[in-house]
Parts: sequence; C-alpha cells; structure tokens
Amino acid sequence: LQNGEPSADSSSSKLLKSDGQEMGGAWPGQAFSLQVKKVLFHEKSKYQDVLVFESTTYGNVLVLDGIIQATERDEFSYQEMLAHLPLFAHPNPKRVLIIGGGDGGILREVLKHETVEAVTMCEIDEMVIDVAKKYLPGMSCAFSHPKLDLYCGDGFEFLKNHKNEFDVIITDSSDPVGPAESLFGQSYYELLRDALKEDGILSSQGESVWLHLPLISHLVAFNRKIFPKVAYAQSIVSTYPSGSMGYLICAKNENRDVATPARELSEEQVKALNLRFYNSQVHRAAFVLPQFVKNAL
Ligand code: SAM
Repeated sequence: LQNGEPSADSSSSKLLKSDGQEMGGAWPGQAFSLQVKKVLFHEKSKYQDVLVFESTTYGNVLVLDGIIQATERDEFSYQEMLAHLPLFAHPNPKRVLIIGGGDGGILREVLKHETVEAVTMCEIDEMVIDVAKKYLPGMSCAFSHPKLDLYCGDGFEFLKNHKNEFDVIITDSSDPVGPAESLFGQSYYELLRDALKEDGILSSQGESVWLHLPLISHLVAFNRKIFPKVAYAQSIVSTYPSGSMGYLICAKNENRDVATPARELSEEQVKALNLRFYNSQVHRAAFVLPQFVKNAL
C-alpha cells in the first residue's frame, strides 16, 4: 500500500488495491481513492482484515475487509447522524444499546445526551476497539466512561437475551458481507423490536441510495411488517461510496414522528454539544427524499 506494493493479505487486496483504491464488490465499476502516507497497523483478526493508515488529506483511516469505515476528517458526519436522529427523535432516552461501533464514535455522541443513564455496547471484534484506542483517539475517547457497559460478542446473539430494555438501539455495523451479514436480516430486526421498550426507536446504517437501492427497499419493506413507523433518511459523508449514507429509523410507537426532533436544539446548544454536522434543521431535511428514492421505497 505504502510503496505501491500489493497488500500482503489477499482478502484486503481484493478491495483496497495497491494504490489505496477501494474497489468494492458491492459497488462494481467504480472506485474511491485516498492517498496513503503510511500504514500504521495491518493484521487479520478472528473476524476480518483490520487496517489503519495515515492518509495525506483525511487523517487516520480505519479500513475493515478493504472497506473504509471511518476517517478522522469526516467521521463526525456519519456518527452524529446515526446517533442523534434516533436520540433526538426520542423525548427522553435513558438506556441506549450500540451494536458494533468499535471505533467509539457513536458512543462519544450518545454520551452527549444528559438524559442517557446507561449505554451498553456489543462489538464483535476487540481488535477494532484496540486499534481505535491507539490510532483514532478522537473517536475512542469515551471507552472508559462510567456509564458504559462493554461486551465483546456478536450483536445478533446478544439481543436474544435482552427484552424490553432499551429506549434507543443504534446498529453501527459494517456492510452485509463478513461478520455483519446477520445484522441485515428480518430476524435481526425482530430481535431489535423485542429489545426496545414500548416507545423505543432504532437507527441502522442504511447504505447508499446510489448503490444499494434494492437492499434498502427490501430493508424498508420487511421492517414495515415489524414496526408501525419506518422512515429512511440520508445525508452526505465524503468517504463513503458515492458520498452518501442512509439511515434507517424505526419506532415502536405509531404516533412517533421520527422526522421531527422531539427535543429542538438552539444554536447555543449545538455549540455546547460540539456538534459539527447535526442540528434540528438537518434532522428534518434528512428525511426529505429525492423522487427516485421515494418511488423505490
Ligand atoms: N458504519 C461504518 C461503515 O459502514 O463504514 C462502520 C463502522 S465500524 C465501527 C462497524 C463495526 O461493526 C466494526 O467494528 C465491526 O467489527 C462491527 N461488527 C460487525 N459485525 C458485527 C456483529 N455481528 N456484532 C457486533 N459487531 C459487529
């Protein structure tokens, strides 16, 4: 990677080519490139290929199985939207569960809510947490917070033992190839519904409308059978494929309008919470979808 040499590992070289190009099987015919300054860490965990490199323009970058997960420069856009859309749609979130989220960015955002009394996190891969602590300090800054209960294990299995417990559940997973495959099926969402309290809300990483519309419409369609309220939001993230990212938001309460914040933020509050992407106007706007997306959903 660093010197134009092919990656030592075949699974990562499959996606992240020797010139730092991300070429995904999930987005054939196109590629995204970041210039690699230095490879900081590259090992295979029990679950996936884990790479951290220093880029020339986006800071340190976390890559799993050859796919960019987070860069220091633009991570706030994704982390703030995935966390704050459900949290601000909820009037009083106290107990929050994060599935995945190993870089720690979602945890950092969840803990900005004073209403939150306890956060449980279930991440499958300890190596992701360890490299985040070492190379992504701005994201992993909250792992020693006293409100956190951290489990290492599979999110799908974890949910089987938790019923009617959480106000908000956030699935910050990788793409549906590799360890996150089980987090995209109908049975996973049924477990999420059962783990949520009566007024509970969930958010899940919802892929890109430019690349994954059939998968998104499938997710929305089966969730309409599980939840009375299903909504899809989207916004921009510079280093995700096609520059867009979707967020699937479902509520158990049919009267909950998730597109409208239950708690509005003033400009002063946005500043005090150190929000760089999310505000109440962005919240509403994210649910306004282009016609081709509306037609597909
Ligand atoms: N949303 C980012 C993206 O798509 O680019 C991904 C962020 S990354 C923090 C996603 C995390 O989900 C990884 O740390 C991965 O180890 C974790 N993960 C994948 N499958 C999981 C599973 N079945 N249970 C719990 N965590 C899982």
